[in-house]
This record gives sequence, structure tokens and C-alpha cells, in this order.
Amino acid sequence: MKLDILAFGAHPDDVELGCAGTILKEISLGKTVGIIDLTRGELGTRGSAAIRDQEANAAAKILGVSVRENLEMRDGFFVNDEKHQLEIIKMIRKYQPEIVLCNAIDDRHIDHAKGSKLVSDACFLSGLMKIETTVAGEKQTAWRPKIVYHYIQWKNIEPDFVVDITGFTDKKIAAILAYSSQFYVANSNEPESPITSKNFLESLNYRSRDLGRLSGVEHAEGFTVERYLAVNSLGDLI
Ligand SMILES: [Zn+2]
Repeated sequence: MKLDILAFGAHPDDVELGCAGTILKEISLGKTVGIIDLTRGELGTRGSAAIRDQEANAAAKILGVSVRENLEMRDGFFVNDEKHQLEIIKMIRKYQPEIVLCNAIDDRHIDHAKGSKLVSDACFLSGLMKIETTVAGEKQTAWRPKIVYHYIQWKNIEPDFVVDITGFTDKKIAAILAYSSQFYVANSNEPESPITSKNFLESLNYRSRDLGRLSGVEHAEGFTVERYLAVNSLGDLI
């Protein structure tokens, strides 16, 4: 199955937190989108891997993505080496996306920067014909996405561009709240972490409003990119 956009996250919920609004918008424009989670988030302070699997599936339904897979790498300890790169390359060649979205280039959780570089490196390597991969006995063909965009999650990284997600924020928050084990719930008996505070939940709305304020729209999500962005004409900007 070929997809237009493939979004990777080190943990289930990274994609929702970083770029759910953009995914919802692209799907509304007719694009096909898939999500690949690198780990099951088994080291998360709250919940369990099994609970997070269910939450990820519920969030995927809300977003309307065509596919969601989990590579079951080790939360906290996966590395950017040949073995892990080949796992990502297999996904890129399987779904042949034009655009890849992945974690922030730098963040509080060490898996985010690691996942960011791992996916970005694999996107390059996936285009090299002499790297052979097979899935179910079938040889895959080389595929390099046109571009890799990094979403922004915990740290306030300066974006290279923003996507207008006005009209999609309610559904974005619904997809995030599908991870009910992870975020703020009044009177929870589970341990606190930086993402379980009410402040964090409110900051998601605040950030999209603030990025929108700075770019002349109501709500926006920001991205960074490793190469220059080109537009066909100056009129392409909103
Ligand atoms: Zn994460």
C-alpha cells in the first residue's frame, strides 16, 4: 500500500502531540497517511505497553490514518545503528511515502532526538539500491522520500515553517486525549510526570495559538527541515 505521508514517533503519542493537526488537515485534503511508532512506550511513568497499544489504536481511528504499525524497539535504549536503520528502511520501502514526518531534532526525552536522526538517516539510506531488504521473501525496491520534516514537541524549537491547522484543533486534542493514561486527569492516583500536569495540556492549545498569532492564522503547528524549502511562487505563501 503506497502512502503520501508516513509519520514516525519514538513513542505512541509523539505523532499526536507533534503533528496531529497537520495529519488531520492533510487527510481532509485527500492525502493518505500512516503512523509508525518505534517503541511501545513501555517505560512511560503511567500506564503500560498494553494500555498504550489500545490508546494508540483509538487515536489512529480519530485521526483517520490508513495504517499504524509498531516496530517494538526498546523504549529508552534503541540506538541508531544498521539493525534499527534497516527496520525503518523496510517501512519506507513498504509504504513509499513522498513525505516523512519524524520527531523533533532535539528534545527533553532522549528518544526523540535519537528517533529523529534514526528516521532521517534511514530515509537517505532507503534510496540506495545496493542496500537490499526483503519482506516475506520478497525483495523491496529502493525508495527515498522527497523530504523529511521534523515536528516540534516538548522544547520550543524555532520552526522553519508552520502549517495552518485552524479547524482541526478539537480533533487533535481528542486524539491526544485518547491516551488517557498519559495526560492530565483530575484526582488521578498514578504518579505525576511533566506531561501529566494540567499546564501541559493547556500548553498544547497555547502553542498552536501562539504559532498561529505569529503567522497570521488562528492555529498552527511548526516544523523544522534539514534543507532549504522552495516555493513555486511568492503567492504560495498564506
Ligand atoms: Zn515521546
